[in-house]
Amino acid sequence: MSPAPSAAIHPDVRRVLFDEGVLRARARELGRRITGDYAGRRLLVVGVLKGSLMFLSDLLREIGAEVDVHVDFIAVSSYSGAASTGTIRVLLDLRENPEGRDVLVVEDIVDTGLTLSSLTETLRARRPASLEVCTLLDKSVCRKVPFSPKYVGFEIPDEFVVGYGLDYDERYRQLPYVAILRTPNDGQ
Ligand code: 5GP
Repeated sequence: MSPAPSAAIHPDVRRVLFDEGVLRARARELGRRITGDYAGRRLLVVGVLKGSLMFLSDLLREIGAEVDVHVDFIAVSSYSGAASTGTIRVLLDLRENPEGRDVLVVEDIVDTGLTLSSLTETLRARRPASLEVCTLLDKSVCRKVPFSPKYVGFEIPDEFVVGYGLDYDERYRQLPYVAILRTPNDGQ
């Protein structure tokens, strides 16, 4: 029998950092913590598109029935044109009103911190009752502005990673693991 498509490692990958099992186990741990922290409450989970999509779906199924979960999405532009200010542009806005709600933003990765510090500022202006961030990956060594997410899956070094929702030029999002790509210097 041929292996499932997900079992083969993509030829562009140099190293797998976190495989499916490790990612699911960490999502379970974070889901349990979130369940404990929000038990008996209504929680608006905001997925930041597109990178958070796989992490969000794994995390959601680990949040227990004790939490009344609602899900919404937001998409923001990268700050590339305005790196000095860190200002983001909202490309796709929430449909739910966060005012007076407990809000948990779910992101794929925090790098410089510019995106999330700007996004949380934007959301805070809408007066949620509480606002926290859960990120799968944290490159805290790369911060340009102080930002500390409450829930972190894994701390990683300053490496560009793909897979499990994260892309390079819109590619590799479907890989079921988080990996570092080969560079031309790696050879084959
Ligand atoms: P920050 O504003 O914190 O510098 O970066 C946040 C965004 O940059 C992430 O949401 C993601 O889109 C992108 N990013 C930062 N580091 C990486 C990485 O290692 N891999 C990928 N695929 N995207 C990254």
